[in-house]
Amino acid sequence: DKKVYMFDEGNSGMKEILGGKGANLAEMTNIGLPVPYGFTISSKACNDYYDSGKRIQEEVKAEILASLARLEAQTGKELGSTVNPLLVSVRSGSVFSMPGMMDTVLNLGMNDQTVEAVARLTNNPRFAYDSYRRFIQMFSNVVLEIDVFYFEQQLEKIREAKGYHSDPELSAEDWKEVISTYKQIVKKHTKEDFPQDPMQQLFLSINAVFDSWNNQRAIVYRQLNKIPSHYGTAVNIQSMVFGNMGEDSGTGVAFTRNPSTGESLLYGEYLINAQGEDVVAGIRTPNPIQTLQQDMPQVFEQFIEVCRRLEEHYQDMQDIEFTVEHGELFILQTRNGKRTAQAALRIAVEMVEEGVISKKEAILRVEPEQLNQLLHRRIDDKFEKIILAKGLPASPGAATGRVVFDPDEAEQLNNEGEKVILVRTETTPDDIHGIHAAQGVVTSRGGMTSHAAVVARGMGKSCICGCEALKIDMQLQQFQVGETIVKRLDTITIDGGTGEIIIGEIPMIDPELSKEFELLLSWADEERTLDVRANADNPKDAKKALEFGAEGIGLCRTEHMFMEADRVPIVQQMILAETEEQRKLALAKLLPMQESDYEGIFEAMQGLPVTIRLLDPPLHEFLPDKEHLAVEVAKLQITNPGSKELAEKEKLLKRVRQLDESNPMLGHRGVRLGISFPEIYQMQAEAIFNTAALLESKGITVIPEIMIPLVGHVNELKIMRQLVIDTAAAVQAKTGVQIDYTVGTMIEVPRAALTADEIATEADFFSFGTNDLTQTTFGYSRDDAEGKFLKDYVENKILTDNPFAVLDQAGVGELIKTGIKLGKQTKPALKTGICGEHGGETSSIEFCCLQGLDYVSCSPYRVPLARLAAAQAAI
Ligand code: PEP
Ligand code: MG
Repeated sequence: DKKVYMFDEGNSGMKEILGGKGANLAEMTNIGLPVPYGFTISSKACNDYYDSGKRIQEEVKAEILASLARLEAQTGKELGSTVNPLLVSVRSGSVFSMPGMMDTVLNLGMNDQTVEAVARLTNNPRFAYDSYRRFIQMFSNVVLEIDVFYFEQQLEKIREAKGYHSDPELSAEDWKEVISTYKQIVKKHTKEDFPQDPMQQLFLSINAVFDSWNNQRAIVYRQLNKIPSHYGTAVNIQSMVFGNMGEDSGTGVAFTRNPSTGESLLYGEYLINAQGEDVVAGIRTPNPIQTLQQDMPQVFEQFIEVCRRLEEHYQDMQDIEFTVEHGELFILQTRNGKRTAQAALRIAVEMVEEGVISKKEAILRVEPEQLNQLLHRRIDDKFEKIILAKGLPASPGAATGRVVFDPDEAEQLNNEGEKVILVRTETTPDDIHGIHAAQGVVTSRGGMTSHAAVVARGMGKSCICGCEALKIDMQLQQFQVGETIVKRLDTITIDGGTGEIIIGEIPMIDPELSKEFELLLSWADEERTLDVRANADNPKDAKKALEFGAEGIGLCRTEHMFMEADRVPIVQQMILAETEEQRKLALAKLLPMQESDYEGIFEAMQGLPVTIRLLDPPLHEFLPDKEHLAVEVAKLQITNPGSKELAEKEKLLKRVRQLDESNPMLGHRGVRLGISFPEIYQMQAEAIFNTAALLESKGITVIPEIMIPLVGHVNELKIMRQLVIDTAAAVQAKTGVQIDYTVGTMIEVPRAALTADEIATEADFFSFGTNDLTQTTFGYSRDDAEGKFLKDYVENKILTDNPFAVLDQAGVGELIKTGIKLGKQTKPALKTGICGEHGGETSSIEFCCLQGLDYVSCSPYRVPLARLAAAQAAI
């Protein structure tokens, strides 16, 4: 079976085989765009390479040679020819875009003879020798694994000795000198001469690209982006075109729309007389694409047309690399451009308005997780800020943190809970872990398409690029702007939307949502079958949830109300009561407090369902720490024996010890408390119904759903349900107001799911509490597992994800399925929902949709994400 494809033999549907880049080069070739000739070695060949112990198989080798011959025929050039030499680029390209993560070799085919031919043919020896030295440098780095530092240091030395400030000042003779020193570096490191045989260069480079699939940064990138490792990379061999042939040549990168804001305006940058990597590597700061109109009017016009055709063809915003050789435009690459959430929304919505895509497609274009970026805070303009410097606004959002210059340190401090801003001259793919760990990134060099910008946008991190006013001193670990010096670990704030770098920490405010945001989500609402509710415990969160489009409250955790500072003494009084009489006294004080809590929430959510979960945590959580208390008692026994204070503390300590449990999360909590202390649940129910009656009489519709936590046996629920019903009846009799309410349960322990048919006889609804259900299904403590061992489990691929974040469909999910099936067997109209953290996670939401749940409930800030994810699941 075929493993090597000429560009005109492929198409964009062949990404799995040709990789994204190869498939797009083929597609562009086929729609008649000016693409330099070439061929693609498929990712299957990469897997074969690994399967045969890192060797290119003979059949593949033969195919490569045949394709090379065809390329030579197409171009009229020959690899290694001293008359008309073919020069090629060798680039990686996997099915998923991994910008800058793998290796590239340019100008391959250069050697001591062909360089002379290139010099003659182009009538430009300076260009020829510059290209040759670039090739030596890249090949040595990628294939021979010699650090570029040695070459750069050497070049710097020669530049300095000759009194030059920049590379264009070097003459052909100078470059020859550089080349001979470069060769010495190679000899010193490899004990061999730089390989002169172009065929050998080619195959070594192909091997190196295959190897780069498993280099450290590629592995990290795949982990961060959840890209499976079995795909392998394809290799693209393409005849070179040169942007560094003089002032009528150049190279650039452009997006067909602004990748930061989404505005429908060509956006990008280019350099005259430069070669590909110069732009993205951020070595020279490039010109905005618009000035190309003056520099090369015809090329600009042609390029605009190419952009239009590419967008029309791919029906999405494109990220295009181009080169101009002696005034002739070539397109080297196109792909769907990475973009910020803001841009993703605007582009999707505007493309619907332009009639390019459907609403459904628009919904599928935006990643739910991306929406969170839009909900991020920004700097409050009310406060004075000292703007230290301004760079390019490369990725929006504001961030505050302590300055670090080293990605390893960024990672380390982040692990210790510090917020950091990574400041670098420029970033390379090796810095990716540091970018991930930082709140934001600042670079002093490079443009909006530089590595730092692309990676930060992808991660939704704040980023400022090309802030040239920053003089970074790595030695002293500080940077300087004018007179101001900012040292390592000083705090700065950055605004990736404006490019401002500000000293110190500045207050931030919540974002306003754009009209595109509202529009796209309203389209999502038309598609989705799942309702989206929020977990909220107070009126403020309830209002926020409503603003984000929640359709009710799926979980109101009442213990949060008990934990308010002024209430804790009364709660303690309730817990310490020795008689029922005493306890009722304390509960009577709590009753009006609970009523006011419920009033605010019911009012905010009027007309929408509000699920109130009765008290869940173990009681000792409300009492002082036992060790601390024991010390106090011991002290008092010495300083103040026989005192009333001592007696009280001793009593308290005794009660704390009585209530203390070895496994509180599996202990006396939830319904078990309700069974032991029915008066607590009774008081909570009474407060709910009193409030509901009061509001109903004012004409406000209240839909309370009373939820009993941690039920494992139908008899528990039966008793509690009766208690709620009796309480409701008493309130209705007292007030004369009719209240519509339901009583349901959480499904949080396996036994509840397994006996859901019995439990459903006593429940109007089920809400899957997947935090506890995950804890009890795996037997992992939800308080400890993540810190202790889950990271190892995920790293070692024992688990693909942290099950407390991403629902374990095979285990916990199976219990959910069973719970729904058995529950509906008993009660076909049983309402079902989920209120664990998973209710706000994309893949878990999709699962919930497939299982036919009625709703998901998540934190207010995740409601927009859930609305979109639910729509995507339904399409
Ligand atoms: C759950 O267990 O999933 C749940 C929502 O309840 P809590 O997190 O309060 O235990
Ligand atoms: Mg729970």
